[in-house]
Amino acid sequence: MTEKILGIAASDGVAVAPVYKLVQPDLSFDRKEVADTALEIERLDKALEVSKGELQQIRDKAATSLGEEEAKVFDAHMLVLEDPEMVGQIKSAITDTRINAEAALTDVSDMFIGIFETMEDAYMKERAADIRDVAKRVLAHLVGVGLPNPSMINEEVIVVAHDLTPSDTAQLDRNFVKGFITNIGGRTSHSAIMARSLEIPAIVGTNNVVEKVENGTVLALNGMTGEAISNPTDEQIAEFKAAGEKYAAQKAEWARLKDAKTVTADGVHFELAANIGTPKDVEGVLNNGGEAVGLYRTEFLYMDSPSFPTEEDQYQAYKKVLVDMGDRPVVVRTMDIGGDKELPYLQLPHEMNPFLGYRAIRVCLHETDMFRTQLRALLRASVHGQLRIMFPMIATLGEFRDAKAIFKDEEAKLRAEGVAVSDSIELGIMIEIPAAAVLADKFAKEVDFFSIGTNDLIQYTMAADRMSERVSYLYQPYNPSILRLIDNVIKAAHAEGKWAGMCGEMAGDQTAVPLLVGMGLDEFSMSATSILKTRSLMAKIDTTKMKELAEKALDSCTCAEVEELVKQYVGE
Ligand code: PEP
Ligand code: MG
Repeated sequence: MTEKILGIAASDGVAVAPVYKLVQPDLSFDRKEVADTALEIERLDKALEVSKGELQQIRDKAATSLGEEEAKVFDAHMLVLEDPEMVGQIKSAITDTRINAEAALTDVSDMFIGIFETMEDAYMKERAADIRDVAKRVLAHLVGVGLPNPSMINEEVIVVAHDLTPSDTAQLDRNFVKGFITNIGGRTSHSAIMARSLEIPAIVGTNNVVEKVENGTVLALNGMTGEAISNPTDEQIAEFKAAGEKYAAQKAEWARLKDAKTVTADGVHFELAANIGTPKDVEGVLNNGGEAVGLYRTEFLYMDSPSFPTEEDQYQAYKKVLVDMGDRPVVVRTMDIGGDKELPYLQLPHEMNPFLGYRAIRVCLHETDMFRTQLRALLRASVHGQLRIMFPMIATLGEFRDAKAIFKDEEAKLRAEGVAVSDSIELGIMIEIPAAAVLADKFAKEVDFFSIGTNDLIQYTMAADRMSERVSYLYQPYNPSILRLIDNVIKAAHAEGKWAGMCGEMAGDQTAVPLLVGMGLDEFSMSATSILKTRSLMAKIDTTKMKELAEKALDSCTCAEVEELVKQYVGE
């Protein structure tokens, strides 16, 4: 049956392909007493064998698509499967207590997980996660259901999931995953942000797409309108494909601006920068004519690693970005873990409101060894390019001063060790907490620059969780209250001769750009794929007119009024 599914447009593009559901299957089972223990052991051996074959395949695929280093985690999983101590105990549990293999596997693996989880050593703690993963795979075979393996997808599909974590998203192979659609999430949840940088069409926040479609159902998805259709008719497929072709043609048009300067109709230059998550993303920045990296989200370096990345690993990553960007500036943000980004090897406390909790600079100022390692790696890399460093989630001047003091301390130590460090590293902060936006005049005296993180600034100002589709209507970048905060920040920076940029998704929003030009924002940092369309838009607008527009917008009452004003000044 043909059915329309509506969600939040999260990443441009159109896809038509069968559904691949990335959902956890039901692994519940009945604990039973068994008469034939030998048969249970045979069932267990078979499940272990199939799991081993599967893991070997996943490992080989990971080694070719992600690299040997990333594939190592699966070696650890295979070791668990072959561990004579654990397998022996599961078999003894079957023979001694005559329980079924499912129950014996669960009892023994839970016991091992418990032991490893309480260990101090971070490496040993990680083993608990390995055992949990492997036990789940074996159990799935015992109860006779398949586990989804996103890395093994080898035909064109649209991934359907309740939610995708940033690391799930990173594993999607663009050659086969033509789009994705989820039940939860908003435009600024990290899976949506990553979809844009991977250029995968996506819709998030549909509420119930998982319940509405089956594996193999054909889905047509438009990431620009947020509309999907299951079992589309030939006519609907043709409509979606036509929209996809129109978008591709527009992209080809924008591509001609790759080497052009970013100037408005009256000749004023604005810096168009890109947001990246890994050194590999620099290629996309350069292909899209990015003038700088305005936000390097370094937490992905931590999330892609099985344990804390070493100073050397980090140095190599930062150096690569700086070298590849040449004389173009690179703003590196220190680690922002917490909220929707977790590290398996750093046990963060379970909190009711993780976005209001222990996150970003709050973690760094507490786990200072980790923070110092990152700063040392950055300082060492600084001689390879134009490095700017910024701290995320700054709420108070005290936090900035503390972070800066640690930075200065590591800088002094490195210099004393005779290590070369650049003299021109700029030190700034992200403005994403209203407290910092309100007090921007005081911050401006002490920082070198501001970068406005509107994804968080809007969620905190409107008190609307960026992960919740139910309150996503409150993600209102054009709300005059948000515009006033932004205006305050830009004016405060300029009064002290500093620059103000923006690295939240709003910087690439085509309705917001004219307003931000009018307010005099200096740098716009966005998904690389939004750069060329923004360059094209800027060429059509005039700064004097946009100043007038911004003034009227700042004096408006609602975001609807502001949208109307933009239409009047810029056109549809
Ligand atoms: C922001 O909050 O706007 C931002 C750029 O940071 P992140 O999306 O990583 O929280
Ligand atoms: Mg943020």
